[in-house]
Amino acid sequence: MTAVEVDDDIVILDMGLDMEEVVQEEDELEQMSTKESFESGTIPDDGIIHEQRDKVKAIVIGHGHLDHIGALPKLAGAYDCPIIATPYTMKIANQRIDEDRKEVRNDQVVLRGGDRYWLSNSLEVEFIHVTHSIPHSVMTVLHTPEGTLLYSLDFRFDEEPVLGVPSDYERIRRLSREPVKALIGDSTRVEMQGGAETESMVREMIRHRLERLHDSKGALIFSTFSSHIERLNALLQVNKGRRKVAFLGRSLKDYAKLAEELDLIDLQDVHILSYYDEVSHFLKRTASVRDEWLLVCTGNQGEPGSVLRRLAEGEYPMQIREGDHILFSSTVIPTLLNQYNRQQLEQKLKRQGAVLHRDLHVSGHARREDTRRLIRMVNPMTIIPAHGTLQMEASYAALAQEEGYRLNETIFLSEDGNCLEL
Ligand SMILES: [Zn+2]
Repeated sequence: MTAVEVDDDIVILDMGLDMEEVVQEEDELEQMSTKESFESGTIPDDGIIHEQRDKVKAIVIGHGHLDHIGALPKLAGAYDCPIIATPYTMKIANQRIDEDRKEVRNDQVVLRGGDRYWLSNSLEVEFIHVTHSIPHSVMTVLHTPEGTLLYSLDFRFDEEPVLGVPSDYERIRRLSREPVKALIGDSTRVEMQGGAETESMVREMIRHRLERLHDSKGALIFSTFSSHIERLNALLQVNKGRRKVAFLGRSLKDYAKLAEELDLIDLQDVHILSYYDEVSHFLKRTASVRDEWLLVCTGNQGEPGSVLRRLAEGEYPMQIREGDHILFSSTVIPTLLNQYNRQQLEQKLKRQGAVLHRDLHVSGHARREDTRRLIRMVNPMTIIPAHGTLQMEASYAALAQEEGYRLNETIFLSEDGNCLEL
C-alpha cells in the first residue's frame, strides 16, 4: 500500500495483504477483526494516513491479486472516498468485501485501460493496460501539478498473450514527454536475467506435455494459481475437448465464475465443484473412469485444505495411484512455509506412484531486460523500487544505476512506514 500526497490531496495506491503472513493465517483472516489483522502483520498499518483521512481522494487498485486488494475489506471503509479499479478487479474486490461482512460503503468507479478520471481539482488518475498474470491489470498514472507519477505494480511485457492484447506500449512511451517525475517499479523478478517470456510459450509447453499424456490410463491433474484465468484458457485450448474438464476447489470456482461474467473464459464444457462434499461425490464417480478426465485442482503450493493436498492425503474416495500425472503450472512462492507445504505434497504424491511435471510456467513479473525497457520508454526523473525484499529492490537500484541513475539522488530505496519527499 502506497500513499501519494500532493498539496492537500492524498491518493492511496493498492491496499494489499502481506502474502507470507496470509499463508499462515488464511483460514482465520475472514474472522479476524481489523485490530487483530494489524497485529498479525497481514494488513498494512495505515495509521499515518488515517490521521489525515479527510485528504484522501481515492483508493486506486491496479489489479485483483490479494497482495494488492486483500486489505480493502478491513481498511477501505474508514475512508470517505471512492474505490477505483478495472471491471474484473472490482468484481474480486466486491467478493472479498462480501465474504468479510465489513462495512465498506465506498463509491466504486470502474475504469478500463486508457480511461482517465479527475480525483480533485488538481489530480487526475489514468489507467494503462498491461499484461500480468490476472486479467484487467493496469499501470496507474497520477497526473499532478508537480508532474506525473507512474505506479507500475505489477506487470510483464508479453508480446503474445493468450487472453487479451499486449501492453499499451504507445501510451507508456508517450508518458516520457510529460515528464515523469517518479516511477515506482516492480522489483519482484528484476534479479532474473533476460525478458520476453510469453503466455503463448507456456501454452506450447502444456500442449507438448498433454500430447504425450492424453492417451495414458491415469488421471491428468493440473494445478495453477486460481486467478490465472489466462493459464486456464491456455489449458482449455490445448485440451481441445479430448478429455472432460473439471475445476475443483473454492477459489478456482470463485475466480473462474467472475471471469465468465466478463467473457474472459468459456466455462460451458467445464464441470465446476467447490465444497468438500461436492468434490468428494464427484471424485467417487470419476475414480473408475479417471483416464477420461483432466482435473484442475486448487493446491499448487501444497496448501493444507486444498483439493490437491486432500487428494494426496487420501481424504477423498478417489486415491492417487501409479499412472496418474500431476502437472504443476506454477512456481513455489519462495517462503519457508510454502516450500515446506509443497515438499510435503510432492512426497505424498510420489509415494503413491504419481508422476510429477513441474514448472510449466512463466512468471507474471518483468525480468531484468523488460524492466530496463520500461525505464528507457518512460525516462523517469526518479525511480523508487518497490514490491520486493530489500535484496530485490537493491537489484532494481543497480539496474537503474546501469541506466545512469544515482542512489539517493535519483534512486530512492524505502521501506514500510517511511516517507519520501520529492
Ligand atoms: Zn500481481
